[in-house]
Amino acid sequence: MLCLPRFRGLGYSSEFTANMALIAKSLSDKPRQFVELVDGPDDICRLCPHLMATGECALEEQVLVKERDGIVLKMLGVWPGERLSYHELAARLAAVADSSLPKKACIGCRWQNFCDELPLR
Ligand code: SF4
Repeated sequence: MLCLPRFRGLGYSSEFTANMALIAKSLSDKPRQFVELVDGPDDICRLCPHLMATGECALEEQVLVKERDGIVLKMLGVWPGERLSYHELAARLAAVADSSLPKKACIGCRWQNFCDELPLR
């Protein structure tokens, strides 16, 4: 969710980036569609090479995915299982874009320097 507004085609594999591009385009084309926030692997994780058969993220220990997800959800005021329009989610993301949210949630991410240079879209 935090990465979507800055997605520019980078990702963990060609399948991952193709899937994320499809999702980003769909949300950008139809921002009134509803998004369900889940507590675990989501539609973006679905084609990620780091998603294990157990449903866990192989990078969890390295990049603390659950902790980062928790930071983002708390700062956006949303809960797992909640459904919101992407339009509403994007507005909330934009409202906290200059706060400490990206600093806390993006520390250690391999694309942090790249994203820091980009405007939200
Ligand atoms: S949370 Fe893990 S499985 Fe999901 S997209 Fe990120 S690295 Fe891949």
